[in-house]
Amino acid sequence: MYQSFIGLEIHIQLLTKSKVFCSCKANFGDEPNTNVCPVCLGYPGVLPNLNEQAIKMGYIVARALNCKLADSAVFARKNYFYPDMPKNYQISQFEDPIGRDGYIDIEISGETKRVRIHEVHLEEDAGKMIHAGDVSLCDYNRAGTPLLEIVTEPDMCTGAEAEALIHELRKMVRYLGVCDGNMEEGSLRCDANVSINKKGQGLGTKVEIKNLNSSRFVRLGLDYEIERQTALMDEGKPIIQETRLWNENRDVTEPMRTKESAHDYRYFPEPDLPPFRPDKSFLEDVEKAQVELPLAKKQRFIKSYGLTEQQADYLCEEIARADFFETAVKKGAEPQVAASWLAGDVARQLNRQKMELTDSPLSLERFVSLMSLLKTGEIHGKIAKQVLIAIFEENKDPLTIIEEKGWKQLSKDELYAHINAVIQENSTAADQVKAGDDKPLGFLMGKLMARTSGRAHPEEARKTLIDIIRGGTE
Ligand SMILES: [Zn+2]
Repeated sequence: MYQSFIGLEIHIQLLTKSKVFCSCKANFGDEPNTNVCPVCLGYPGVLPNLNEQAIKMGYIVARALNCKLADSAVFARKNYFYPDMPKNYQISQFEDPIGRDGYIDIEISGETKRVRIHEVHLEEDAGKMIHAGDVSLCDYNRAGTPLLEIVTEPDMCTGAEAEALIHELRKMVRYLGVCDGNMEEGSLRCDANVSINKKGQGLGTKVEIKNLNSSRFVRLGLDYEIERQTALMDEGKPIIQETRLWNENRDVTEPMRTKESAHDYRYFPEPDLPPFRPDKSFLEDVEKAQVELPLAKKQRFIKSYGLTEQQADYLCEEIARADFFETAVKKGAEPQVAASWLAGDVARQLNRQKMELTDSPLSLERFVSLMSLLKTGEIHGKIAKQVLIAIFEENKDPLTIIEEKGWKQLSKDELYAHINAVIQENSTAADQVKAGDDKPLGFLMGKLMARTSGRAHPEEARKTLIDIIRGGTE
């Protein structure tokens, strides 16, 4: 009977080498206040200088989000006083942001849903306050590092949808190489706003939620808030427009402060920075940086390679994984076999060793070689699994491993010889099989596998064993 409206504001830290308006390093984890200069410390009389890499990354993301790109992006001062911002204003964008009116497609329980993007704008980050006992310390290394703010329309209805959007956006910015997407370390941050209302009556009173520093908290925080507002509506109590904080220890939202309206910040155009007008070659670079987006890739993998949902999800989580898979297929690997190995045994090895595919001993060449050995029948699946483990343990090529360990599949002659030996040594069991009893087959197969150290192809060996024993009666 109620409708809920969720909008998100997502800040992403751009992976530039230097800060957005000065040449200080945009490094994290350095000694406090070592990456600072008069510009990012806000000394009087200094002039900001726009980092072209930062604004280009901004346009790349806005383009990937299907936004209308600004012919002239204007910077504005957002005025407020806080010790983490020594010049008492933040350079941001207000009237003419980089991008407007875009959208992103997300997937929610198998269905694709389109969420509109209100705008994408570039701004500078503030410094960091460290509260130690009864003093507060300021580290300005982060002050002036580039942040991209992505604002969605209130098109989501549940915590799960908001979580799906965060996942999709995180993958997207990682695909584009503009942000590492690490929510725990704060390089991707999310604030949410949520309102509920009776069906057909439009948006309700907006409540903002902060401190949602994992995608799970986004989901839990929003679901909690929708429940809280529903209960107030049911009781006929008013919903107060406010900012609330997610308390991860108590799993509730708690009031923070009354919401300032936008004009409290007294936005005005930044007099020290001219509007940015992208030229033709800049826009060409933005086009060139576009990639097939994660959801489109996933849907293509399912359609053209016949992968399962779970395999495609796993492979498309990281662009490097998806590329690894597709290159292997181009080099001759069977798509469904390769996907099942990558999302199965290979993923398990990587997990165990806490590695990513790209820095593991399993190079593309080694994987393609393993797939080819399987395909030609030179080794069977069980041996291939042992080879994979050996690649991780010994950092050697599959062929070398197979030769060194003598794991090559048996030739027909070798297989016959081993089977005949097994039959001779276990004549009672062999006679029973000959008489039509299948039960001792398992026992004989066990003997054969032990003799051949598992090199015999199980199905082929079983078939040959039966043929030899029973074929002999004819
Ligand atoms: Zn600086």
